[in-house]
Amino acid sequence: MLLKPMVTMHIGFDDTDSPRMGCTTYIAALLVVKLHQMGAFFVDYPNLIRLNPNVPWKTRGNGALCLRIRCNEEHTGEIMEATIDTIEKNSDSSCTNTNPGVVFLLNDIQNDLRVFAKRAIQGIVEMKEALKIVKTSGAEAVGIKNGRGIIGGLAAIGETLERDHTYEVITYRTLKNRGTPRRIHIPSVTEMNEKTSPLTFNNIDSETGRILIAPRGPDPILYGIRGESPEAVKQAHKIIRPQEPIERWVIFRTNHGTDAHLHQANSTSEIKPFNPVIVQGDLCKEPEVILGGHVIFRIKDEKGEVDCAAYEPTGALREVAKKLIVGDSIEAYGGVRPASSKHPVTVNLEKIRILKLAPKLSFSNPKCPHCDRRMKSMGKEKGFRCDKCGFRSSELEKVVGEHERTVRKGLYLTSQRSQRHLTKPLLRYGTEKAKTPKKMIVDWHFP
Ligand code: ATP
Repeated sequence: MLLKPMVTMHIGFDDTDSPRMGCTTYIAALLVVKLHQMGAFFVDYPNLIRLNPNVPWKTRGNGALCLRIRCNEEHTGEIMEATIDTIEKNSDSSCTNTNPGVVFLLNDIQNDLRVFAKRAIQGIVEMKEALKIVKTSGAEAVGIKNGRGIIGGLAAIGETLERDHTYEVITYRTLKNRGTPRRIHIPSVTEMNEKTSPLTFNNIDSETGRILIAPRGPDPILYGIRGESPEAVKQAHKIIRPQEPIERWVIFRTNHGTDAHLHQANSTSEIKPFNPVIVQGDLCKEPEVILGGHVIFRIKDEKGEVDCAAYEPTGALREVAKKLIVGDSIEAYGGVRPASSKHPVTVNLEKIRILKLAPKLSFSNPKCPHCDRRMKSMGKEKGFRCDKCGFRSSELEKVVGEHERTVRKGLYLTSQRSQRHLTKPLLRYGTEKAKTPKKMIVDWHFP
């Protein structure tokens, strides 16, 4: 009997969870075990691809998943069935906004699919474009309800993380504990952070001491640790002392912490709602602290103007925003909120790079040359008068003083606790990767 050849299969899926339950990464973890049992082997860690964090209809972090396996061509049908079955059984399809989708691709990843993926990370794409690529690439797609998850599934296949990427080990809780407060030995998180940072990142918020590795919602994740290599996140995971059982864990390869969502705009005129951007400009309107503690200022370039907002939860970034003055030259990084009846289009700041600081000047009335008392103005261009000795002068001018700026040039980020999944943390600058890993570590999942 002739054996069929081995093939590579990419399985992308998305939109399975709801605010009430589930997590698409958990389905990936279930499939890792199932597909291994079916004789498939993985050619990459499961890819966890964060798509545009600015899309209005995401549930949480807009994460999509792709599994890349080798299997016998004979088994592709069963693998597809098992995948669809697992997704169906573990999706919260009763939620109006949950529209699962799964895409299977046996062929090579063509350039139009890579471009589609990049656009889904940086902008908004449409279902009809996704379906067209499914067709032309020879992929197969299955959607539940309106099947919008096909967009994310397809994009996850097309983002092969060939340049900068990071890793995350995610551990999952047993069914019985989900929805209850998470039990983790806190000092072990501090110990893990001390022993593994900067090879792991964003474990603890340095300003408040808050533990960032554990989410807060009803999803099945106990904790997730992000880092630069599979070895680093695995070592970190071994240091944590969970105080409840871990049902399973998996190491994912991701675009977390890479700034993949930000598109460098050449001018303010290129800014589009829902398309995260990096744009340069000079402050043309003084920062204003509005109700809720948010800081709003405006920048301009030769093509136009745009408002920038550092919201209260951005912490450190808001403090920097407050110190900017008209004339400062900055680069603004962030998602773009569309205009509303109350506000113009606004960049919701994730980072600010201060490129040039304008001198902070003050203008005061001159002192009286006879009695050293500060003089009074007699009106615009009418000179000054001394109240004490009566001396008058139309020659004297306002005295210009320059004040020290309380902020320096450089890059500033939101506080760790409010950073997006995709935001590149400061300590990753200069450590970006330029290629895919050559091989995988042996134990990258349990069971
Ligand atoms: P997670 O909770 O897993 O982090 P999420 O739950 O926040 O992610 P989803 O529930 O997956 O987000 O919903 C996002 C939906 O938006 C999916 O159906 C996905 O296909 C679709 N989508 C994602 N990115 C884009 C985009 N750039 N343009 C259009 N649709 C998108």
